[in-house]
Amino acid sequence: MTEPGLDPSEATQRAWAGGWLTIDRAAIVANWRTLDDLSGAAECAAVVKADAYGLGIDRVAPALAAAGCRSFFVAHLGEGVALRTVLGEAPAIHVLNGIPPGTAPAFRAHRLLPVLNGMTQIAEWRALAAACGETLAATLQLDTGMSRFGLSPEEAMRLAGEPALLEGIAIGLVMSHLGCADTPDDPRNAAQLAAFHRLRAAAPDARASLAASSGIFLGAAYHAGMVRPGAALYGVPPNAARPNPMRPVVRLQARIVQTRIVPPGSWVGYGARFVTRRESRIATLAVGYADGFLRAGGGEGAASLPGWPGTLPIVGRISMDCLAVDVTGVEAGLVQDGAALDLIGPGRPLEDAADAAGTIGYELLTGLGHRYARTYI
Ligand SMILES: *Cc1c(COP(=O)(O)O)cnc(C)c1O
Repeated sequence: MTEPGLDPSEATQRAWAGGWLTIDRAAIVANWRTLDDLSGAAECAAVVKADAYGLGIDRVAPALAAAGCRSFFVAHLGEGVALRTVLGEAPAIHVLNGIPPGTAPAFRAHRLLPVLNGMTQIAEWRALAAACGETLAATLQLDTGMSRFGLSPEEAMRLAGEPALLEGIAIGLVMSHLGCADTPDDPRNAAQLAAFHRLRAAAPDARASLAASSGIFLGAAYHAGMVRPGAALYGVPPNAARPNPMRPVVRLQARIVQTRIVPPGSWVGYGARFVTRRESRIATLAVGYADGFLRAGGGEGAASLPGWPGTLPIVGRISMDCLAVDVTGVEAGLVQDGAALDLIGPGRPLEDAADAAGTIGYELLTGLGHRYARTYI
């Protein structure tokens, strides 16, 4: 099952793998442009933590940089160091978790911007600035309600009153993060916005950033100087209750290993959780929970077949390396050994696959395994 246009090594990878992951970088770039347009004058950064949400930071980040993205966010120092190698010197790279104790020199060596989340991180950066006699740039995070990262309101006020605490540090960006932005009516959004404006006094001259993907859709008041989308770039809907304005990015196809016709009353998979009610054609697909296709998705899950209306149910428990789909009624020629069904694709949106497993697109994407043949288009 090769497709025209694939290079030979990709064709071999596909022939050897159980599942194929196709990642549409043009769609990622189009999503970035959409979010950039929506955000008015604010700069649109890109969050590429967790290997660009599982899609491959070394392939995704350069495409975004080529499209004009100038600021990137990762979670860990190690991710930042790797991204610097991928992107070269020009782009700004912010490291959300800030400075692990004793690692400040690595931030300076790789020109990474630590997101300073607390007084000890500030002290580490200040000490390094003093030791090398330089002014060191950084981002400052304020906790406006999530109780996760950033200075408490008391600490922010203390910083505002004691500028010496930031001696040798140039805060270029002050940021916070919204906890309920995917629910536009939640009053916590406005409360966090108000707290952010109050606490920004800790770094009055810095640019401000509050919105991630969902926050962008809360309106201009939330855009400030920079927005930081991650998930929406990769096609995850920013608001579960509204139609998804983002272009889909990921297609996940699973190869059919074999099909069998079984009589009524046959059971399928571990624990016999599914029993056929009629004569059925069952296809065994070569993707399982070891590939990040979560076992919890067995009950409500489905696959789709391009050109075939509706979806085809996943039946029985998902195994480590395979799952079963009821393809009764599908023309035999369409479900031959080696043919592929979509687990995520045009007929099966990412969010439906995530819903079926009781999770969200974020978790499904970041958990996708390493056995797929990956194709970037
Ligand atoms: C992960 C993260 C983002 C991106 O969030 P999305 O919902 O994926 O857009 C932005 N800011 C911070 C602080 C984050 O941790």
